[in-house]
Amino acid sequence: MIYLDNNATTRPHPEVLRNLASCMDAYANPSSLHIQGRQARGVVEEVRERVASLLGANVGEIIFTSGGAESISTVFCQEWKTLIISAVEHAAVICSANACKNKGAVVHTVGVEPDGSLDEGELTTCLRKITPRERGRTLVSLMLANNETGVIFPLERLSHSVKSHGALLHIDAVQCIGKIPVDVQQLRCDYLTISGHKFHGIKGVGALYRRREAPLAPLICGHQEQRLRGGTENTVGIVAMGTAALAASQTIEKGSKTKQLRDQLEEELAKQVAGIRINGAGATRLPNTSSITFPKRDSAALVEALSQRGLVVSSGAACSIGDAPSHVLMAMGLEADEANASIRFSLSTFTTAKEIREAIQIVADTVAGLPEVQSVC
Ligand code: PLP
Repeated sequence: MIYLDNNATTRPHPEVLRNLASCMDAYANPSSLHIQGRQARGVVEEVRERVASLLGANVGEIIFTSGGAESISTVFCQEWKTLIISAVEHAAVICSANACKNKGAVVHTVGVEPDGSLDEGELTTCLRKITPRERGRTLVSLMLANNETGVIFPLERLSHSVKSHGALLHIDAVQCIGKIPVDVQQLRCDYLTISGHKFHGIKGVGALYRRREAPLAPLICGHQEQRLRGGTENTVGIVAMGTAALAASQTIEKGSKTKQLRDQLEEELAKQVAGIRINGAGATRLPNTSSITFPKRDSAALVEALSQRGLVVSSGAACSIGDAPSHVLMAMGLEADEANASIRFSLSTFTTAKEIREAIQIVADTVAGLPEVQSVC
């Protein structure tokens, strides 16, 4: 199998697998007072330090959660009057914003340019509308990098403007760990979300960075995590994330190898398959992600045919909103039939040159053998 669906989830790092058995031994409840409980607490706190150091945060600013969607939901469940998001956010952000809207908040959605980069003029217009009453009660939630196209938003540059208008900033950095630097001091954000299974940890664990002074009421009540997230800590998941975080801090330099392979995939496919379009090609992107439109091909049929030949890719986000064409590609101006003809390839630091050579051949052959679909428009 050639696995190029790493933005959906990643395979656990070999070091994570090696550690899993031993951390099963630390099964005592970290809140228990006995020696075993204190040992489990020690393990959890060690990981907190590691995650804090990965993100440039203070240890007390890291809260363990069950993953990206929970971290995002926690931020959105605060008492916001106004929310500003982009049109290409992950479903977890869009659904959370809709829930706020149903409770009376005003939601502004900022569009993107045809290459997927943020419409910064529209963001500024939204920020200028913040009234004195809304200062401190407005949340801007933007992704650092898009899960479908890999397009990176320049949040380090934009955060100053967000803050100067009195808004708080949440960054969805779920797709970025181990791929590009993520430093909360440089990003000057109030909240930041990460998820263990996206960087070779395991599923069911993530973290929320919360700047010490930023307001936060728990989504799940209980005494754990400074009373900010109730529920017995998922020690196994947390240890896995700690191991993965250590590995991730060492993989960013290898990003150039991943980028070379991704570029090779795009260049070769452009030569071998007529009329393909690389979505977001003009923008700054993650080194591992490629969204490609294969005109007149049905992406669901293509994903199926490729997986039959051992190549695992995806037709967009694994957690897309219903069966509708990708809202990300539509926001970039693609027609529904073009969005429905698009495939996401996402590499990892484990992807090899041999796999990419084989993948190119499999895609070229499969596309050639797949019947064309007639546009319904
Ligand atoms: N945000 C982005 C950009 C994602 O890609 C995902 C997962 O696909 C999430 C949030 C949700 O993360 P999790 O699967 O940990 O809930």
